[in-house]
Amino acid sequence: MADPAGTEQAAFEPSAIEWQQATCYLNGEWTALTEAKVSVLDRGFIFGDGIYEVIAVDTVDDLRAPFRARQHFARLQRSLDMVRIDNPFSVEHWLNLIAEAIERHPWTRQLVYVQVTRGVAKRDHPFPAGAVPTVFVNTSPWPAIPVAQIEQGVSAVTHADERWLHCDIKSTSLLGNVLMKQYAIDNGASETVMLRDGFLTEGSSTNVSVVKSGVISMPPQTVQILPGITVDGIAHIAQQHGVEVDMRPIAAAELRAADEIWLSSSGREMLAIVSLDGVGVGSGKPGPMYRSMHAWFQQAKALDAQQWAAERAGHLSITRTTQCAA
Ligand code: PMP
Repeated sequence: MADPAGTEQAAFEPSAIEWQQATCYLNGEWTALTEAKVSVLDRGFIFGDGIYEVIAVDTVDDLRAPFRARQHFARLQRSLDMVRIDNPFSVEHWLNLIAEAIERHPWTRQLVYVQVTRGVAKRDHPFPAGAVPTVFVNTSPWPAIPVAQIEQGVSAVTHADERWLHCDIKSTSLLGNVLMKQYAIDNGASETVMLRDGFLTEGSSTNVSVVKSGVISMPPQTVQILPGITVDGIAHIAQQHGVEVDMRPIAAAELRAADEIWLSSSGREMLAIVSLDGVGVGSGKPGPMYRSMHAWFQQAKALDAQQWAAERAGHLSITRTTQCAA
């Protein structure tokens, strides 16, 4: 079934001009994105031996801020630990770095990309001794999420989850996810929702939650899914508003019988899946719980932006004091 609101791809294509304006950070230098180069021996290129994060930046009440930035860097640390790549920076250093990336660009909405690979070494599987991690940060314009997608929802198709059993690591080795995203596109859908042994795991680049009789259910945090920053935010926000959130395995039959199904990610925030494998979900429109949750999510972004602004202001005054003292 065709996606009621078009596919993600059409909405997420920044213009060539915007790309040409971009600056990126690579191993200590700021350089034009189109000029930045890494070695062909980088293990990110050769083995997909790297970790990444994508952080959404929006402007709410005139405050331009990354959403849940500290949570993203906590997850970066966790992923790096799991593959034993040394984190080159402290959280504060990372926050300064992404603040600079954001400030260097005019866009009110940005997607910041952060990647750390194991570095450059002669091609050989074992961890190389003495390799220095490659650090890359760039940001790109983040077009508004189409109102039609928010208002009308999107469609999804299901597929067996054929990925490895460390989907909790945010690895740059994304071939399994790429194939699943293409499967969605090839089938005129916005997302592929994956099932492993008859239970919901996640989407190709999103977490998936279901609503039944007013209760939000999400698959538990296991090696089978990414611990999404957005879905974690949704769980917290829902609980703050007194909505029950249940983390438990969700069988395929429950998925198909859900009143509402949502996908969530930093880049798409939260969208209702209104058609699954061509069959309408619930009323076939974004449900009442989605509408409440979406509004609360926007409020939470505003609060988070205020906190970021306050922290940055504090940071600037500390910097100024330090500079004065020096
Ligand atoms: N699962 C997968 C496989 C993803 O690629 C993403 C997006 N990075 C997510 C879930 C959602 O994660 P987040 O909310 O942190 O963007």
